[in-house]
Amino acid sequence: MSPYGPAMNRLIEQFEMLPGIGRKSAERLAHHILMCKPEEALGLAEAIRVVKTTVRPCSICFNLTEGEACSICSDPRRDRQVICVVEQPRDLISIESSGAFQGVYHVLQGRLSPLEGMGPEQLTIEPLMKRIRRDGVREVVMATNPTLEGDGTALFISNLLADQPVKITRLARGIPSGSVLEFANREMLADALRGRQAF
Ligand SMILES: [Zn+2]
Repeated sequence: MSPYGPAMNRLIEQFEMLPGIGRKSAERLAHHILMCKPEEALGLAEAIRVVKTTVRPCSICFNLTEGEACSICSDPRRDRQVICVVEQPRDLISIESSGAFQGVYHVLQGRLSPLEGMGPEQLTIEPLMKRIRRDGVREVVMATNPTLEGDGTALFISNLLADQPVKITRLARGIPSGSVLEFANREMLADALRGRQAF
């Protein structure tokens, strides 16, 4: 028997769905919401609503933006002929924080994973190919995660580009194999970018 009513149970269940939140933390958060000022709790609900209705993928690179093109695609100082390919917007943020990359990005919105039903059509591979042809891209830096699926995705894309006059590089393996970019530190990522190798 749950000691809570349906409303509290629902809130706890919602918190429990968040990454890294277990039952105990979910209960603690729900109690906090219950006890805090109404404007504080409703401010949180409103922030969630606004972010879900205004943040969308950039029309060029699929990074997150609140406008048409993201801040990186809109920046005239960025080199449009060098594209760094990442799986998720948070990988882009990790690489950006290294400060070592002056080109632009392309967010795949995932990686190839046949078991999870993620094929090439589920990713933004077709728009990437169009960009490469249209913008006369010189270099594509594969920065998918150094995991089996990330490597497979990079290989798939580089095969598609085999007949294009574009250099394909891969982040150097300063990043431990099997780890994810999100957790790599700034220096590690800067090193990996500087030491990138032909794919
Ligand atoms: Zn963009």
